[in-house]
Amino acid sequence: MKKRKLIIGGNWKMYKTPSEAIHVAKALKVKLINVANVDVVICPPFPALVPVNEILKESNIKIGGQNLYWQDEGAFTGEVSAKMLLDAGCQYVVIGHSERRHVFGEKNNEINQKVKKALENGLIPMFCVGETLEERQNGLTEKVVEEQIREGLSGIEIKDASDLVVAYEPVWAIGTGETATPDQAEEVHRYIRELLSGLFSLSLGNQIRIQYGGSVKPSNAAELMSRENIDGALVGGASLDADSFTEIIKLSASV
Ligand code: PEP
Repeated sequence: MKKRKLIIGGNWKMYKTPSEAIHVAKALKVKLINVANVDVVICPPFPALVPVNEILKESNIKIGGQNLYWQDEGAFTGEVSAKMLLDAGCQYVVIGHSERRHVFGEKNNEINQKVKKALENGLIPMFCVGETLEERQNGLTEKVVEEQIREGLSGIEIKDASDLVVAYEPVWAIGTGETATPDQAEEVHRYIRELLSGLFSLSLGNQIRIQYGGSVKPSNAAELMSRENIDGALVGGASLDADSFTEIIKLSASV
């Protein structure tokens, strides 16, 4: 038996119009009706949050934003605030996703402000970290992940382990079809847990959930979830289809 309840997120990235998102949300609501031992969170694009929330509000599926800005409001064209996400029905928000870091150039100090703002507003960050292929090949995985954790979570206090979720997403495994082996993932997850224990407390470090992300699919989900320190998944491509996302969740739940 796992010590921590699994949490599986579906990051829909910039896929799905509101009507397409509604269609998948309706299917997931039915398919996942009996799944209670896993927390399920889907993160549709911003325009789909309100209609998807309408569909899912009486279900066991939660919704999350894919990003936020750290100001409460103002002249910040194109940005979205924590309060807007909350009002749209979000309980979670993805922060520091590798596409935000590497496509849009987000830095650890900006990610830190976002994590702070999410927590201040009662949103649960799904805080993403992970190394590039070059960094892994140069033996820098632990150094990079440690920097991302220390800087991204600098000055942050949490009261309860459920206030924060960390996602380890090696950049080389995201959207590439290449997955970290369960051993590779477990090794980094264990390291992240040590860091969290040092930053917060042993007890919080033991309880904070750490998701794995990077080409998770039905064929590899169960083996990844069977590892001691892997407490769920953040799924991109395979979450876009209700059948494959459901399969991942059910296979994980059965571990
Ligand atoms: C992601 O978007 O966080 C992700 C892990 O994508 P994929 O599952 O497609 O690799």
